[in-house]
Amino acid sequence: MSAPTTAAVIGAGFGGLALAIRLQSAGIATTLFEKRDKPGGRAYVYEDKGFTFDGGPTVITDPSAIEELFALSGRTLSDYVTMLPVSPFYALSWENGFRFDYNNDQAELDRQIQAKSPADVAGYRDFLRYSEAVFQEGYLKLGAVPFLHFRDMVRAAPQLMRLEAWRSVYGIVSRFIKDEELRQAFSFHSLLVGGNPFATSSIYALIHALERRWGVWFPKGGTGALVDGMVRLFEDLGGTLRLNAPVDCILTEGGRATGIGFEDGTTLPFDRVASNADVVHTYDRLLRGTSRGPAKAAQLKRKRHSMSLFVIYFGLKRHRPEVAHHTVLFGPRYRGLIDAIFNKETLADDFSLYLHNPCVTDPSLAPPGAGAFYVLAPVPHLGTAPDVDWAVEGSKYRDRIFAYLEERCLPGLREDLVTSRIFTPLDFRDELNAHAGSAFSIEPILTQSAWFRPHNRDDVIPNLYIVGAGTHPGAGVPGVIGSAKATASLMLADAAGRA
Ligand SMILES: Cc1cc2nc3c(=O)[nH]c(=O)nc-3n(C[C@H](O)[C@H](O)[C@H](O)COP(=O)(O)OP(=O)(O)OC[C@H]3O[C@@H](n4cnc5c(N)ncnc54)[C@H](O)[C@@H]3O)c2cc1C
Repeated sequence: MSAPTTAAVIGAGFGGLALAIRLQSAGIATTLFEKRDKPGGRAYVYEDKGFTFDGGPTVITDPSAIEELFALSGRTLSDYVTMLPVSPFYALSWENGFRFDYNNDQAELDRQIQAKSPADVAGYRDFLRYSEAVFQEGYLKLGAVPFLHFRDMVRAAPQLMRLEAWRSVYGIVSRFIKDEELRQAFSFHSLLVGGNPFATSSIYALIHALERRWGVWFPKGGTGALVDGMVRLFEDLGGTLRLNAPVDCILTEGGRATGIGFEDGTTLPFDRVASNADVVHTYDRLLRGTSRGPAKAAQLKRKRHSMSLFVIYFGLKRHRPEVAHHTVLFGPRYRGLIDAIFNKETLADDFSLYLHNPCVTDPSLAPPGAGAFYVLAPVPHLGTAPDVDWAVEGSKYRDRIFAYLEERCLPGLREDLVTSRIFTPLDFRDELNAHAGSAFSIEPILTQSAWFRPHNRDDVIPNLYIVGAGTHPGAGVPGVIGSAKATASLMLADAAGRA
């Protein structure tokens, strides 16, 4: 009997695209359905007055996971996209004037740590060793394998215990490093995948080793060029991408997924269906006609969801090469602000910001002599702070952030402003169908990781799969590309055995 041959993937984020490439490379005729007019999901691209703004991911790590997608069909990433190294990885800056250039040069790191806190030079080495150990266990061994059964978790438990996975990222960093600003410098990374450094499992300290091992990269032409390269690969393999195609429901019959339906009532049959859309949206909305959907959605809504983000994309008349490509501006508070973002109903008066200045690496993203930027502030999601009216607060918050940026690193910003647009928690909810406007889906705490996360294959509907930030291993570009590998392994094995 021949293997089933068709699959639908709902959502063209990095996870959906990577899964579609894997399926199509393996000979499964795959159609990718995307709600918006362009692919990329969080990596959507805005173009305005000659500026190109990447909507989301800008720190590209583990290029080997991306290369693997091209190698599946004997191709190479460099034939589709040019990846440029970024150095320093990040310039970290505090209000007291301390600046730390976080890069991949051990001697230079030692020099900076020595100047700030001599005792922490040895502590940093110990932290790096710890980070490498969790990277081996948490990323290389477990980052792309599905956790479908509790026994998978039990098998991983001894190693997790040995690595003290119950501690928080900040807790483990503090064990090795004494200086408060250096503690912040080596613990903020979990925010990049939606994790509170004071609550997220110390396994996420692996991000440090991952960056040290493979570096930080930026695609020439922006992250959007990487999305385009992946779409081109998928189409070269014979896959079909349908844009402006919001899926309204996943069809089921006899306990199996049979296809997808659209708002106008049309339907398309598929042998297997995978969703890269938000997990709550998938169960709550797309599976609303089933007994499985509402029950699972109710359970997922009770989980903790990552914070949201407030993002301003802006173009300036002047290129500002003195500002690093990736700049983190720490505000006056660290723990207090993070607590406010994850747990408080109101918007804090202070903020910590990530500033993206890609023209340092690729000037083609703005008109000659000009600069394309974005700045983001982590903010509570709509469930944590339901009374913040972003329709009103958005422009006020933008003005406050612009004023702060002028003080900290971009004097004259408002005089030089050519264009700007904002993206608020409401846009995460309405544009991306993200539950409560969360920017990173289910929060990566230990009790919501691995087996405790929504599974890569649904437990009840045997040919329905999940890919992307909401499933194992979690958010971030390497995470969702790893999730695609885990999900594809199940889909291909199931197709071979006709499960
Ligand atoms: C501002 C920002 C900055 C970030 N920076 C970084 C970074 O520097 N490095 C990093 O590694 N990670 C970063 N991240 C995280 C990373 O971008 C995400 O975790 C990752 O891209 C999510 O990918 P995904 O596959 O889960 O899908 P998503 O990107 O969430 O895409 C899901 C897609 O599904 C579509 N969809 C939803 N519902 C439907 C439907 N019913 N029918 C059809 N389509 C539907 C959506 O339109 C969307 O295109 C950042 C995130 C944000 C928001």
